[in-house]
Amino acid sequence: MNSEFVEIASMMPTPDIFSCKRVLAIQAHYDDIDIAIGGLITKLVKNGAEILYVTVTDDLAGVIDLTLSKEIAASRLKNEAEKAAQILGVLGIYNLNYPDAGDWSVYQARRDLITIVRQFQPDCVLTLDPWLNTEAHADHYKSGFAAVEATILADVLGVEGTDLHIPKEFLANHKQEIQAVGLFNSSQANTFVDIDQVLETKLAAVSQYISQFTVDSMAAMLGALPKRSKYFAGIGHSVNKLSREVTYSECLKVLSPGALHAAR
Ligand SMILES: [Zn+2]
Repeated sequence: MNSEFVEIASMMPTPDIFSCKRVLAIQAHYDDIDIAIGGLITKLVKNGAEILYVTVTDDLAGVIDLTLSKEIAASRLKNEAEKAAQILGVLGIYNLNYPDAGDWSVYQARRDLITIVRQFQPDCVLTLDPWLNTEAHADHYKSGFAAVEATILADVLGVEGTDLHIPKEFLANHKQEIQAVGLFNSSQANTFVDIDQVLETKLAAVSQYISQFTVDSMAAMLGALPKRSKYFAGIGHSVNKLSREVTYSECLKVLSPGALHAAR
């Protein structure tokens, strides 16, 4: 990190993600958010936030039962994601259906996401960190890029969205500004969330995603997630951003939208 960045960042205090009440959470695949920050989602819902998930791809590439038709696989994935959303208290899931691991562009997805931001009017956007140094899965960094660019361009009325319409239960009844952007799977986390009381709820949600995991690989993931959360808690303790009483944590990089655009 160079000194100039520190100076600019210090002019923009880290927003309080728990002040957000209307959250647009954008992921590449159905399980990205729940695996990374399902505990945070649970806490935001308990705190009164309405949360809409947007899944950018159809998520079909990872389905392990190759005998299933695309239609049946898609319907199973959707069912599993809806069960997980119900466990966490998420308002709903909207799918853009770009081909999983396919040749779709950030520009296409960005246009859709601009429309969704305009229609849903979030005060917070959560997405994958597109600047994670070692992310090789293009769906992940493309979804993150499309989401952060939509965040800064949604209010620029000369930038076109697309002709999609989210279900009316997700439509906003008033306009508001995005106050916070939270990037998960980030290598520059600045916010550590205590998930001690909600870890079990997160694991219950993650365990719904059975189409893409064998019994063994699901068990391995459910075993790894608490360990990973303990590791994040240790980092949070070491940088004095998390009480030492906390055992399990999720972490993310939280920014003001202004920090995403040099011209602001
Ligand atoms: Zn993913």
